[in-house]
This record gives sequence, structure tokens and C-alpha cells, in this order.
Amino acid sequence: MPELPEVETVRRQLEPLLVGRQILGFRVMPGAERLLRGRSDTSIDAQLNGAVFTTVTRRGKYLGLNLDSEQVVVVHLRMTGSLRFRARDYEEESFTRAIFTLDAGDQLRFVDVRKFGTIDLVDQMDDALPELGPEPLSDEFTTEALWQELRGRQQPIKSALLDQRNVAGIGNIYADEALFLSHLNPEAPAGSLRPAERRLLRQSIRQVLEDGVAHGGASFRDYTDVDGSEGEQQYFVRVFRRTDEPCDDCGAIIRRIIVGGRATHFCPKCQPVRQRGRLVKSTRPSRSAGARSTL
Ligand SMILES: [Zn+2]
Repeated sequence: MPELPEVETVRRQLEPLLVGRQILGFRVMPGAERLLRGRSDTSIDAQLNGAVFTTVTRRGKYLGLNLDSEQVVVVHLRMTGSLRFRARDYEEESFTRAIFTLDAGDQLRFVDVRKFGTIDLVDQMDDALPELGPEPLSDEFTTEALWQELRGRQQPIKSALLDQRNVAGIGNIYADEALFLSHLNPEAPAGSLRPAERRLLRQSIRQVLEDGVAHGGASFRDYTDVDGSEGEQQYFVRVFRRTDEPCDDCGAIIRRIIVGGRATHFCPKCQPVRQRGRLVKSTRPSRSAGARSTL
């Protein structure tokens, strides 16, 4: 599922391709109508016709294709959605659900196997978005801002990170990776983090997301970019989908558990369960939160 780094990769690729280009038409394939969430493609086509792309922005996992008509096309890729920028005569991808016809013979195609993705046309991007927490790669994402969202919460920290109202853009891959770098057990109560752990968690979130962007996103199954290529972040993960493999840091066997209904991967030795503020079964007394910030 595309998370912040994958959507940001798409944004960076799309912007130079789309800005200044004019929309000549828009249509949705039969059977895919629900991606417009109740609107018809003919009504959207009528509003989009002649509009020119000005910028491409991102908020959390949402893309905003901004237009000179003061409207914005908001795209949510959800599970398996992707965007393709293609010449009109380039073979149409299987599972193409919608096509923006552009000037000069190009198309922007929305491809989606599972059909959970959505396209909205709104006056402001926020109009199409649910409540979202701070943007983790922005200056607003301070340790204090993160703690504001987590304090008092009893839910597992893993679940809290996946809640888009707490932090925008984190999904299963980057939550597991950030918790590994933070030496935090995924089931630790979100509100139990000590100050040094909060600082390390914020730093780890930014690091895994920045690494993901630098590697063009992670392609475990479905994610591909605007020309259909895979990212490379899957080659750099420390715990995600590495069940039964040895931890790079300590050699312990990486485990897979279910937290809040989601598959969760962690190293039981590097991310031990903590009770009443103390580490349990820790065999590495030198390991304290923040002590290994070079990771
Ligand atoms: Zn380990």
C-alpha cells in the first residue's frame, strides 16, 4: 500500500510532467464509477475541460493536482492504485479505471486492481481529506507535536502511528521500521513513552520516511511509479516482512505478531517489552533509548 514516501515519489515525478499541461477530457471506465464517490465522470469532465495543471502537492497519502481553475483533483491511491503518464497510443494497462486526456497526445491514467482508490474534484484540497495529523517531514512535526497526539493514549504505539489523525502518511511498512529504529516494542502503550523515547521516535519516523523517499518508495507487491517502475526501499528494510530472519543488529530472530489487526514485525531483543518503566528480559544493559542514534 502506498505510504508517504511512495506518494511523495509519485508527486515528484508528476509535477514536472503535468505543470503547464491542459486537460482535454476525463472519463471513468465502466464498472469503476465508485472511485468518484458519487459524482459522474461527465460532470467532472465538464469542469476539468480546458483547465491547466499548476502544481502537484501532497498531504499525508493524498495527492493534489492543482489547476488554474482554482480547483484541485485529489487522488488517493489507497491499496493498489497508481498513476501512469503515457502517450495516448501506449498500450493501456490492465485495470485502468480512469483517464485524463491531456494536450499533445498524452494521458494520465489511474490504474487500480482492487478499486479502493478515489478521485475527487474540489475547491480546496482539505475539502476532500479526513482529519489528518501533522505532516512528519515538515517543520511542524516536533517532538512536542508528536507527543500531543500520543499522550494519554493506552493503545499500542504501533496502532497510534497508523492512525492518520495522529501523524499523516505512515502505514504498516514505515511504522514497523520507525519502531525498530526507536527500540520500542510495538505493543507499548502510546502514552507511556518517556521523553528520550519520544525524541528518538520522532527522529526515527523522519529517518525512515526520508530513506523511503530517497529510494523511490517500497515495492513489496503493488506499488509502482508513474512510468511503471518499482522503488527500492524494500531492499533496505530492517524488520518489515523479514519474519524468521536474523536481526541485522543483534542476530535475534525477527517475529511477526498482529497488533490492532495489522501484521507487525519486530526484533524481540532490540524492542523488548517494558513494564512499569523498566526493560524486561533485556540482555543488553547498554541499550537505552537514544543511545544508538547513528542507526
Ligand atoms: Zn535485534
